[in-house]
Amino acid sequence: MLNQISNGRQTPEAAMAGRQQVYSVCGMCSVRCPIVVEVEDGKAVRIEGNPKSPLKGSLCARGAAGIALEMDTERPQRPLIRVGERGEGTWREASWDEALDYVAGKLKDITAAHGGRSVLFSDRGGPFVDLHQAFMRGLGSPNYCNHDSACARNVQHAAKSVMGIGRKEVVYDYRNCKHLVLQTRNILEAINVAEANAVLDGMEKGCKLSVVDIRATYTAGKADNFYMVRPGSDLAFNLAVIHVLINEGLYNKPYVEAHVQDLDALARHVATCTPQWAEGETGVPAAAITALARQLAEAAPNVIWHPGWMVARYDDSFHVCRTAYIINALLGSIGAKGGLPIANKPGDVGRKGLKKLVDLYPAPEEKRADGVGWRHTQFDGGPGLINLAYDAIATGDPYPVKAYICYRHDPLMAMPDAEAMKRKWEGLDLLVSVTFSWSDTAWHSDVVLPLSTYLSRESIIASKGGLKPQFFVRKRAMQPTLDTKADWEILCGLARRLGMDKLAFDRIEDIWEYQLQPTGVTMADFDAKGFVELCDAPRYREDAELKFATSSGKLEMISPKWTKAGEPSLRPYAAPPAPPQGMFRIAFGRTALHTQGHTVNNPLLAEQMPTNVAWINTARAAELGIADGELLEVLDARGTAAGRIRAFVTDFVHPEALFMVHGFGHRLPVESRARGKGVADQDLMPGGLERYDRAGGGISMQEHFVAVRKAAARA
Ligand code: SF4
Repeated sequence: MLNQISNGRQTPEAAMAGRQQVYSVCGMCSVRCPIVVEVEDGKAVRIEGNPKSPLKGSLCARGAAGIALEMDTERPQRPLIRVGERGEGTWREASWDEALDYVAGKLKDITAAHGGRSVLFSDRGGPFVDLHQAFMRGLGSPNYCNHDSACARNVQHAAKSVMGIGRKEVVYDYRNCKHLVLQTRNILEAINVAEANAVLDGMEKGCKLSVVDIRATYTAGKADNFYMVRPGSDLAFNLAVIHVLINEGLYNKPYVEAHVQDLDALARHVATCTPQWAEGETGVPAAAITALARQLAEAAPNVIWHPGWMVARYDDSFHVCRTAYIINALLGSIGAKGGLPIANKPGDVGRKGLKKLVDLYPAPEEKRADGVGWRHTQFDGGPGLINLAYDAIATGDPYPVKAYICYRHDPLMAMPDAEAMKRKWEGLDLLVSVTFSWSDTAWHSDVVLPLSTYLSRESIIASKGGLKPQFFVRKRAMQPTLDTKADWEILCGLARRLGMDKLAFDRIEDIWEYQLQPTGVTMADFDAKGFVELCDAPRYREDAELKFATSSGKLEMISPKWTKAGEPSLRPYAAPPAPPQGMFRIAFGRTALHTQGHTVNNPLLAEQMPTNVAWINTARAAELGIADGELLEVLDARGTAAGRIRAFVTDFVHPEALFMVHGFGHRLPVESRARGKGVADQDLMPGGLERYDRAGGGISMQEHFVAVRKAAARA
């Protein structure tokens, strides 16, 4: 199964070391960077970024810790079937045949009683989901979901509402950009290696960097302009920038005339949103907001106002993202080189796309259980909104949902209010986790199917849009250390048992052959670089080629789709409530050393960063008599303590916010390195599963207040 670089030859360096090299794809976070794995005596011994890709050998710390994951025994080692109560942690070990027979048998019983629609599936999205969607279609269920309501759904829907296309259908052209604005996007800590490299390359060529955030992140430390805004006031900041661009006539007039619909409505909407008004809302001086708008106009159209990535934060986050796209539209950067050029698909460069596995089965005619597409008409049907699907489990409305398969997804740690979620899941007859690491969700499941790590599994071929679209594939670098299996082995194994013969592939090579049928590409074409580019040079569109997939064909300031759904496209600003006396607004974010909760128990990464700390503003800490490094308890709005954490007292966080890195506060006895370390922000969000942005679908995870007290004061 090993695939060597250069048509089976080793590079001279690897040959000298007696190692094979395997092109593959990292799986330590959802970015999926191209990598090269060096293999010695059947074991992965070194990983680096694919030198023939834009990574040019570089890798992040998490990517480099993949071998530690493979060797770690503190992960599910073989299939497990629950014997005690849910969440009790008592299991019996099972062979793969027994576990797959068990799951397939349960699914047969459930679908016989309630139909295929009674099965729910969620994953973390990404390029390999065609297989998951095909499995769900084979069952006859429309209920494929991913984790995105706790991540980027607001951005996706904002992109659709302005451009008619999704967020990934434009490219961030950092290397040719002259001014990059990052708002709620900590690009040098929430890392995508190629993107971080491109940003640094762009800055070396003179690109200005402006950061809008509630704290001074590492990214803000590199910025030319840093604006510390009051938590929840980003929309006021953006409206004021739009006000200046329109009122000073700084917008790109020929572009706007050609491509923007309803500028007048936008102008009326921001008429009173002056920088002076925004200063009162955000705390950022009016002069600084005006100066930023003018700087952007000077750099236009080579400007990127990044609309954000993880923006499941506030009740108005959809509108924050939407105004980011609107600013890009006013500056003429949507579609422009150095801005947000349109991503090309295979067909745009004269090539054929992959044959989809999902097309093995007809699309189910059933409505989605989460109401997306019929009850909530403005939202994308694709991955739906998983939090709303849980309501269907609890209520049976619109129909019973009785089985749930979580694939590499840990909703109990990724979303607020785990106890409320567990209560909703009581209606399930089957809860299955497919996972390579322990998680709260796996611990609560009826069956755990251990997934091989990305080093010891292969994946289906994926297609990636961009200036140079490409196909890429993950190859197995070594055999699994534990009794684990690849996703295709698990899902095709279930398909076989369920009589879904078209998806019951025996060999990954057969899947690859099926996918490549229309493309003219062969597996041998991946040998040279690990991926196959579908054109030789980046393809940018001419301005005359720009036509957007909206009803007007233009960038829409007023979206008819949102209007029809009863949601205003231009929402009046509502100031966020201030925290009650002595309290803070919870805020969370990323670090370059961990991928949310699933790397916190990694032996190497736990050593580098074993716990999180609570960022607390110096003046607020002084008021409360809290010293830097002091042990605190954090309490939710009901007064329930969520755990202990050290104070990090700093000027570099807004006084209203209490910030912590997400992913800590693990409690499972099987995770010796992560257990009892730090606090889980999602534990501080009671009722948070019900609170989501009605316009964009993202859960509003920063609409919760918390208090702190010295740990020693506990009774
Ligand atoms: S960003 Fe890091 S962890 Fe994520 S895929 Fe790339 S190398 Fe792996």
